[in-house]
Amino acid sequence: MYRDIEELAAKHSGKVVEWRRAIHRCPELSAKEEKTAALVAEVLVGLGIETQKGVGGHGVVGLLKGGKQGKTVGLRADMDALPMREETGLPFASETPGVMHACGHDTHTAMLLGAACVLSEMKEELGGCVKFIFQPAEELNPTGGAPGMIEDGALENPRVDALFALHVWPGYETGQVATRPGALMGASDRIFLKVSGKTAHGSAPHQGIDAIVIASQIVGGLQTIVSRTVAPLDSVVVSIGTIKGGYRYNVIADNVEMEGTARTLNPATRDRLPSLIEGAAQGYARALGGDASLKYTRGYPPTLNAPELFELVSEVVPASLGENRLVVIESPDLGGEDFSFFARERPALMAWLGCRPAGKTDMAVLHNTRFEPDEACFPWGVRFLASCATGFLQRKGA
Ligand code: MN
Repeated sequence: MYRDIEELAAKHSGKVVEWRRAIHRCPELSAKEEKTAALVAEVLVGLGIETQKGVGGHGVVGLLKGGKQGKTVGLRADMDALPMREETGLPFASETPGVMHACGHDTHTAMLLGAACVLSEMKEELGGCVKFIFQPAEELNPTGGAPGMIEDGALENPRVDALFALHVWPGYETGQVATRPGALMGASDRIFLKVSGKTAHGSAPHQGIDAIVIASQIVGGLQTIVSRTVAPLDSVVVSIGTIKGGYRYNVIADNVEMEGTARTLNPATRDRLPSLIEGAAQGYARALGGDASLKYTRGYPPTLNAPELFELVSEVVPASLGENRLVVIESPDLGGEDFSFFARERPALMAWLGCRPAGKTDMAVLHNTRFEPDEACFPWGVRFLASCATGFLQRKGA
């Protein structure tokens, strides 16, 4: 079975590169993935896969029915790009100014189409169904694209029993598959802080309440929350990304607005954060006679890999991709991932697919204007997805 997958992945590898480049050339922002979805649907229909468009926005779902009865396994990719100006200089670089596939979602979509090609050729042997889930708006935190697809029934009819997904990862060498049981990625929430004070002449601060000084205290104080009120081995990041306020160089500001992000792995710590942040902000503000308020928006939950699927992958990857391909990651990453919504509904597993050419030391990271994943990782990704699907459907008790 795994040798068939290897051969079929090699056979379809040229098309995967072509699709990836076509999608890369025409990147579309979150919730606007119209052309990408059309390309996906066209390929799936061409493979004779039952295809549904417009699932939760521009989402596409393909259903491949195997020759034998069994469970249903879902494979998921994301399709959206980022509002960034590409600087890779690639011949197939973005032709849409200010929009770029800098998170590799173009490669995820192409690899999942490749897996659809491979699995369609094996469908008579499949004991169950495979659902190909192409989701929009992965980057649209806090809403995301997954909840809309779930609402529109992407995990039902037939009911999806487990899901797999991959993400290209420049930290690992091309063809390595890195994952871990439990938390893989963090919860990603948003913070909006408002500070109020009182205006006065810049030369007489005692007649006003300086919202900028208060805001500065808060920014520093938030880091103390992280270091002093959360256990050292419980990971939390609070970062303020924007700060806006004031009128003029010689006016004491009476208002500051700040926005930031909070990342956690532990759901209980996540629940504690809003009151910790608000308490600290108000404490600093009131000590100086001002006030502060917090709006805390919960975004993506933590991405939790099901232990039983990690066990399965620990067998499947060495058997199918080869010994030494699997890297068991020690610590999670605090980036947010919309796949977490699927993982909250069903047992699920995400793996990172290495995409750094061997020996390269200056690889651009994800969300960098020069991010350029190694296309040689595609056959590995296709094999991983197809092998997880067949491995799950063949599993004892499946
Ligand atoms: Mn991504």
